[in-house]
Amino acid sequence: MLSNKAQSITPSPTLLIDAKAKKMKREGVDVIGFGAGEPDFETPEHIKQAAIQAIGDGFTRYTPVAGALDLQEAICHKLKRDNNLSYQPQEIVASNGAKHSLSNIFAALLNPGDEVIIPAPFWVSYPEIVKIHDGIPVIVPTHIENRCKITVTELADALTEKTKAIIINSPNNPTGQVYTRTELQAIADFAIKHNLYVISDEIYEKLIYGKEEHLSIASLGAEIKKRTIVVNGVSKAYAMTGWRIGYTASIAPIAKLMSSIQSHTTSNANAIAQRATIAALLGPEDSLRDMRIAFAERRDYMVQQIDTIPELTCIEPEGAFYVFVDVSRLFGRAYHGQTVTTSVDFATLLLDNVQVAVVPGSAFGAPDYIRFSYALAMEQMQKGMKRFEQFIQEIK
Ligand code: PMP
Ligand code: GLU
Repeated sequence: MLSNKAQSITPSPTLLIDAKAKKMKREGVDVIGFGAGEPDFETPEHIKQAAIQAIGDGFTRYTPVAGALDLQEAICHKLKRDNNLSYQPQEIVASNGAKHSLSNIFAALLNPGDEVIIPAPFWVSYPEIVKIHDGIPVIVPTHIENRCKITVTELADALTEKTKAIIINSPNNPTGQVYTRTELQAIADFAIKHNLYVISDEIYEKLIYGKEEHLSIASLGAEIKKRTIVVNGVSKAYAMTGWRIGYTASIAPIAKLMSSIQSHTTSNANAIAQRATIAALLGPEDSLRDMRIAFAERRDYMVQQIDTIPELTCIEPEGAFYVFVDVSRLFGRAYHGQTVTTSVDFATLLLDNVQVAVVPGSAFGAPDYIRFSYALAMEQMQKGMKRFEQFIQEIK
């Protein structure tokens, strides 16, 4: 009998769809992948060079579990510069990607049966990581009137004696929405009042195109800072998905627990990637600016295209690189005789018939939607959207 817990975990749907699309491509199928959120850009040259230099210098051994001191210092510098947050190196834990950081956080925080409030739509891995650590994900639907951002009233309705933490992800995957200072302040007051932790996933902070600015909830005062664990990483901002570096900033006792857990699971994150991360965090940001300009253009294009299709609606994303589109008005209709009942049917028919990969909203706790990632080249997107529009026209 294998582990019941392991069998209750569903594999990452975003990575599954990405793997399927990449396999189809390898087999010569001309698939357009709006699936996984992975920037199509190359890692900037100065970051690659820092890694090459690290190998040349023989920086190829174990580092301290939570990361080399110079990496921790670079992260502290970044948090001060970008987020007005003062942390000491011993409050930083570098891990194998932000996903690993999240896993360490829940391993450090949760006792069996503790509840974690996850506003829906949510990034696919949150509930599963909570479950892996014996917690109970409490999914709280948000509303379009509030641009899919959780309110204190919704939080209050979900609160029980078992509530341990709230996850806030701004800019949000999949909706692209950015929380304002007022919204974050209300959540911070709520967390303080009810003695809760806040896990603030800020991995898309550098990718904002609207008028909103990124703000870390931890920067709203000493009390909320103490109960916030900030999660960030280099995958998205610096096109470094394969390098696998994420990090947390928290009070030292939590950092110590995470480091202790990591010392028995993976040890330090890759030493060479740590050096590359220092170059990313402290180096020039021109490539980041160029990527942001390209993403902004792509976002505008995607929103325009969706707006031309009367059956579809989306709230304009302010950040990240996703458009979350409500396709529910098409449910009950048929594509060449095959009825579209759910977003999973929709995504499956789309991929199988016109070779366009998207992620069904059910993966994000919002079954009326599909998610497009616009982290792909404009020509590819144009080609993909042509096929998509044709597909929609054939749904009768
Ligand atoms: N948080 C969010 C919201 C994400 O979309 C991702 C995407 N991979 C991650 C965390 C994890 O990123 P990584 O493990 O590549 O650092
Ligand atoms: N976070 C990205 C996404 O949502 C990458 C895939 C993953 O790690 O889930 O598509």
